[in-house]
Amino acid sequence: MSKRNIVIEPDPILRKKSEPLEEVNNDLRKLMDEMLETMYEAPGIGLAAVQVGILKRLIVIDVSKDKEKKDPLFLINPEITFKSNKTSTYEEGCLSLPGHFAEVERPAECHLNFVDYNGNKKDIKANGLLATCIQHEIDHLDGILFIDHISKLKRDMIIKKLKKSKKELDKVIL
Ligand code: ZN
Repeated sequence: MSKRNIVIEPDPILRKKSEPLEEVNNDLRKLMDEMLETMYEAPGIGLAAVQVGILKRLIVIDVSKDKEKKDPLFLINPEITFKSNKTSTYEEGCLSLPGHFAEVERPAECHLNFVDYNGNKKDIKANGLLATCIQHEIDHLDGILFIDHISKLKRDMIIKKLKKSKKELDKVIL
């Protein structure tokens, strides 16, 4: 299994809308396995396909705290069917915006339809960290980043810093 490279903001692909998947086959399962490995190694708790440069509606998530008991969730073509009025706030980060965090308020509970790793239709009710993670990752599929939920001032500041660190990174790769 090979690890994938994670796309870092600012990059135009992160602003594109991802397309639904037509079928679940072995190629797709290989991609899901590689995305999961990439996420664990990063480390992170969620990764959308667009973050490895693939514009498909596909997400991997694992919010389990225990490293010994992995509990991966594969979401293909996820669709939120309910969002609660009650909200919760988490300090969010993102593998595509390394080193940056901000408080984001989102619905505390959401219900979701999706297709799983084996191609079966599923639905789940999520709350707490999982609900926030699902909404963060589905945002990615629509070209939305967590910084779009905060003030423009703070957003611009983060993008400026990321641009600067990307340039510095280029300088050392000679
Ligand atoms: Zn993210």
